[in-house]
Amino acid sequence: MAPEIPQMQWAQVIEKTGGPVQYKQIPVQKPGPDEVLINIKFSGVCHTDLHALNGDWPLPTKLPLVGGHEGAGVVVAKGELVTDIEIGDHVGVKWINGSCLACDFCQQSDEPLCPHVLLSGYTVDGSFQQYCIAKAAHVARLHKDIPLDAVAPVLCAGITVYKGLKESGAWAGQTVAIVGAGGGLGSLAQQYAKAMGLRVIAIDTGDEKKKMCLEQLGAEAFVDFATSKNVVKDVQAQTEDGLGPHAVILVAVNERPFQQAAEYVRPRGSVICIGMPAGAYLKAPVFETVVKMIAIKGSYVGNRKDSAEAIDFFRRGLIKAPYKVVGLSELQMVYDKMQAGEIAGKYVLDTSK
Ligand code: NAD
Ligand code: ZN
Ligand code: ZN
Repeated sequence: MAPEIPQMQWAQVIEKTGGPVQYKQIPVQKPGPDEVLINIKFSGVCHTDLHALNGDWPLPTKLPLVGGHEGAGVVVAKGELVTDIEIGDHVGVKWINGSCLACDFCQQSDEPLCPHVLLSGYTVDGSFQQYCIAKAAHVARLHKDIPLDAVAPVLCAGITVYKGLKESGAWAGQTVAIVGAGGGLGSLAQQYAKAMGLRVIAIDTGDEKKKMCLEQLGAEAFVDFATSKNVVKDVQAQTEDGLGPHAVILVAVNERPFQQAAEYVRPRGSVICIGMPAGAYLKAPVFETVVKMIAIKGSYVGNRKDSAEAIDFFRRGLIKAPYKVVGLSELQMVYDKMQAGEIAGKYVLDTSK
């Protein structure tokens, strides 16, 4: 029996940049020929959603906008061209909502680089609503044994850090520094790193995040960037030979660490930029970058294969990062805490509340 689809639904809508976000009823949309309509059950909140609300990136959002790009739910309707997804299937809405699948980048599975890319919760409406549309080719396929609340954070944060760790070139037995370790991406990055056989130095601030990183997420060391007198020395001191970590995964929302990482990364090491603090610039001393042969590069979400792999790590029970579930109606509270840097781990929204 086809599920009953209501005319109206609850959503969190950004009507003007800067907010506040409005919790209100809006119409449910109909999927186009190559799209699916998903009854979103849970949606994670990523710091990117806060950048969209604040309008602090050089890329404008659509307005009004329904944010959200970590949505897990059930397919309730599909367009006539969709043949490989059935009503009732579980799927995930990712940051990459759709891409052309034909351009130079799409042909090489670099879909995030597609010039025609659609971004969930940014250039098209996302998962902070009960019914969300996404291109069938791009939704993440979720086995029915995967819990929809716990998998939500994997759909952006998990995929992104897994891809970033792969891009770093670090391999089992080597050490990575995770900068911004106590946040949404950082907490998952520690679990993926551990599952990939890497050793972790966590960098963030405060006792709650320290405890979470060391006791729950598998970090071997924690450096508090706010109380450390010399972050560079303190990070390097955590490696046995004092030469620093093989890779640095930057998921912080502050410019300072982006200007510091090249100083403590190990010779031949890599600095992977993932966090996107507003208006920030990278800086590295040219001399040391050359004579230490350091690679500095950006990493942007993941393609469909990276997504499937990241979800598979989760499904096999290797990824356990803490999250708190609150109602969709409480999104503004989550934004306020995120702005203040007070969230250890992540918030996941239950769209039924
Ligand atoms: P978050 O707010 O949950 O976590 C950020 C963490 O950074 C916080 O724990 C904070 O304490 C920490 N931090 C702040 N200043 C720091 C410093 N100087 N040193 C170390 N840590 C510091 O945010 P999130 O959801 O994890 O997102 C992080 C960033 O990643 C955002 O800018 C987001 O837009 C970006 N992002 C990028 C991609 C991508 O594909 N590249 C994907 C998702 C998110
Ligand atoms: Zn995100
Ligand atoms: Zn393309």
